[in-house]
Amino acid sequence: MNLIFLGPPGAGKGTMAQLLMADAGIPQISTGDMLRQAMKAGTEMGLSAKRYIEAGELVPDEVVIGIVKDRLQAEDCKNGYILDGFPRTVPQAEALAQFAKIDVALNIALDDEVIINRLGGRRVCLKCGATYHTSTLNGKDTCANCGEKLVQRKDDAPETVKNRLAVYAAQTAPLIDYYAKKGLLKTVECAPKATVQENYAKVRETLGMA
Ligand code: AMP
Repeated sequence: MNLIFLGPPGAGKGTMAQLLMADAGIPQISTGDMLRQAMKAGTEMGLSAKRYIEAGELVPDEVVIGIVKDRLQAEDCKNGYILDGFPRTVPQAEALAQFAKIDVALNIALDDEVIINRLGGRRVCLKCGATYHTSTLNGKDTCANCGEKLVQRKDDAPETVKNRLAVYAAQTAPLIDYYAKKGLLKTVECAPKATVQENYAKVRETLGMA
């Protein structure tokens, strides 16, 4: 199954994609993770992406389209994949349609208020991509998977979060309509207080896996 996970920043796309990756054996392809790795490695692409990411703006379409096009050639994508955070603009979706056949665009919907709280407390492992929330870390600051020190993403700072939500509304939300018109859209409404496992059960059900 070739999937797109749509939804605002902080809706849980990455968390749901990691669970599905373990469950269905298809890779999570997160453009955000790939860009952060490039930044950490100090590559030319990483350095040019940095200023967009830290301002909560989108990296130019041609950069992310190129990364995804290359990544989808890899052997582990043969049986399907989960695109997490791509496409984020209509031109990206149009480019994707030229080199991939998408089965479902799953929209993970959540209220803005919950998102702001979630992103404020989010801590991430830059080594393996795992994400946590301060409310469940009990003061710990290392990754349970790989032991790396957890950090707060610079773009999770309150002012940047506001900008990311505005960018989402202006540039990414139109994709909901775009995929609805193609008959590929499915939506999961995440309740504010639902647990990760409850939300994941809804994702499975919506994808017809339950
Ligand atoms: P994410 O981890 O998905 O929230 O992405 C973090 C940041 O990476 C975004 O705020 C953008 O600056 C950049 N980014 C990730 N995916 C894309 C994309 N598909 N198009 C443009 N910029 C992206």
